[in-house]
Amino acid sequence: MNLTNINTIKDLFARHGFAFTKSLGQNFLINPSVCPKIALGAEKSGVLEIGAGVGVLTRELAKVSEKVVVIEIDETLKPILAETLADYPNVEIIWADVLKTDLRGLIAEKFGGERISVCANLPYYITSPVIMRLLEERLPLSSITVMVQKEAAVRLCAKPGTRNCGAVSVAVRYYSEPKKLFDVSRGSFMPAPNVDSAVIRLDVRVVGGLREGRAVPYAANIDEKFFFKIVRASFSQRRKQLANPLSSELGLQKEAVKTALEAIGKKPTARAEELTLEEFIGLYKNIKEIIK
Ligand code: SAM
Repeated sequence: MNLTNINTIKDLFARHGFAFTKSLGQNFLINPSVCPKIALGAEKSGVLEIGAGVGVLTRELAKVSEKVVVIEIDETLKPILAETLADYPNVEIIWADVLKTDLRGLIAEKFGGERISVCANLPYYITSPVIMRLLEERLPLSSITVMVQKEAAVRLCAKPGTRNCGAVSVAVRYYSEPKKLFDVSRGSFMPAPNVDSAVIRLDVRVVGGLREGRAVPYAANIDEKFFFKIVRASFSQRRKQLANPLSSELGLQKEAVKTALEAIGKKPTARAEELTLEEFIGLYKNIKEIIK
């Protein structure tokens, strides 16, 4: 059964009485070249997928990975997936909302805590919360390969210190090494969304580096809660000089912020988008000293 063939999908839907739920971000992939390329990111030992749809990506993942666990919220897809995944015994479907799932517990239970990868064509309404959960919870992941909206891809992969950067770009770069892999046009989906998409890959930074080529963490001994409070405050008024948002959001003296900026070699008039990740870490360390 060819799950990228529109007539095959329409027939499946008709036989099982399925109708799209727009609010669940159901735009299913029908471009045959895309899923095999996303599946290149799958770890052989195991992969977690978010959002099965009719199983078009799930089947590609099941060809490269020994075990695929996919979380899907929409139980009306049950009879369809029972049919499309019947020949793939290495796939297990968890019927749940990914945002309400204990992902650490699930990975430990299904994969024995081994480092796996995440591959998905994400429902766009939860792109950022899903990616941030995957990274912040420090799950045993080696990489995350996901389809997101093109604009989101730019933001998520933007290098701190460049114009498109925001608080989320700093966070993504802190936890991983992101890169955009390729663009995907809106015509590659059924139904076609109003925006184009892109596939990105985040190589998760792993303490100890472990394997050759694996991204390693930026810095040790960071109070991450306070660090990201500074980052978020910095971008809360991104057009303003950093001394303004940091004094109003964190109750710091403007002069103290300017001194902290000069200590990392930046002008006291610097804005958030001018700071690299290393400079944000330096700024955080200096501010911590000031408020000690
Ligand atoms: N992987 C399929 C594909 O590429 O065609 C489907 C991708 S579609 C963009 C997103 C899928 O995520 C849908 O099947 C949708 O029902 C599911 N989904 C939406 N919200 C979800 C949530 N909170 N938790 C788990 N799955 C969700």
